[in-house]
Amino acid sequence: MNAAVCNPLLRTPLSLIIDDSCPVINKARYWIQQRHEWRLRHEPDKPPTGWEKHYDKLGQMPNTIPAAFVEKWGEWCGEQGIRGKFSMIPFPAGVGRIDRGFEGFPKSELRDWLRVTKDILWRNFDLTPEMLTHTRVVDLKTWQLTEAWEQYEWTDPPEELLTDYIAAAMQLLRNAGITCEGVTSPGSFGIKKESAYARAVLDAALRVNRNPQPFFFLRSSATEPPTVPLWHVDKANGRAVASIIPCTNDWFGATGFDTSNPDLFITEDLRGGRLPAVLEKELPCMLIGHWPCFYVNNGPGFKVLKEVKRRLDAYDPDRSKTLWMKTSEIGHYWMARTLSDIHVEAGATPDTERLRIETKFPTHNFTLSLDVAAKRVKVGGGESRPARSRRDFHAGTFLVEGGRTFVAFDLPTGATTVTVWRNG
Ligand SMILES: [Zn+2]
Repeated sequence: MNAAVCNPLLRTPLSLIIDDSCPVINKARYWIQQRHEWRLRHEPDKPPTGWEKHYDKLGQMPNTIPAAFVEKWGEWCGEQGIRGKFSMIPFPAGVGRIDRGFEGFPKSELRDWLRVTKDILWRNFDLTPEMLTHTRVVDLKTWQLTEAWEQYEWTDPPEELLTDYIAAAMQLLRNAGITCEGVTSPGSFGIKKESAYARAVLDAALRVNRNPQPFFFLRSSATEPPTVPLWHVDKANGRAVASIIPCTNDWFGATGFDTSNPDLFITEDLRGGRLPAVLEKELPCMLIGHWPCFYVNNGPGFKVLKEVKRRLDAYDPDRSKTLWMKTSEIGHYWMARTLSDIHVEAGATPDTERLRIETKFPTHNFTLSLDVAAKRVKVGGGESRPARSRRDFHAGTFLVEGGRTFVAFDLPTGATTVTVWRNG
């Protein structure tokens, strides 16, 4: 008998990645203002680049995004079954610390933001820092902002400061009661030292949260086939870092004044756009959007998200082809998929086959394909239930299709035995 690991529950992972979100303030507005002032100080003769080009629209950008809005947005995503990652920048634009407060803003706003974040968002989204400020680098000795930017000068960060910097970002979240599952790069933070950056993420995650299997989000590609690269794998100690790579650009609208078009994700006829091309290949399909566009300028991003979700539901009406997952769940699945040892052993009787799986990388919905037709399956001591169809295929069941059997179960750390009774 041969065994191979498939996508979880034979469904293609979907995930929604939200960047630049933070408590209380609209980070984009402060980013543009600070970048503008920085350029006038340092490079007054150069033209504005990136979001600073929207400097003339600052009057249309509110400086806050209310907790009441994130509550509405988070509840809608929950009702829709959307899962993913939501940044929670701990010291956004240097305006206020998530664990201390935002001077000049009502205290109730931070309190409400934290309540909604923990009670509503966290159920369906990983929460990550997007380093400390997402604007200028913080001097950790004085907690003052420096003239270097996290996403410019620190594309090539000083290696000796990196772990402490990431750990500080994780610690502020922890002080506020949030255990993060990974980190998000502000812009291209760390991209010129990706290996050292990945190592620093792992070391910081172990130091602050005792998390041996975190993820980071640094790269995206709207053209390449998506993958989930694993860095610094230490099988014996169950350690690894997953690189989470979205397959789209932000077509929700970024600041609220940028490209906003559902067709670039998936067209009305469900055939065009980036998502169908990735879903057809059954590769992890992660969408990215920036938080301001869901609220600012009448929220073009929220309208696009509603339309894209409607089309994705039409693409997979019985939910047998796709599965919304948090990004940490995708990271953990890919670790289990590539770092588990699977041995085929002799069965106890002539009509049985046995598999032994050993892993230090647990995951939900671990799914195996076996090249035999089974009439009965046991995972550990537990009897698997036969699934009637792919729609009915869940952890704790097995599905026979032609001469093949698919088995799904939650894979724990340690050894798991799967026993299969051949049909005929
Ligand atoms: Zn960002």
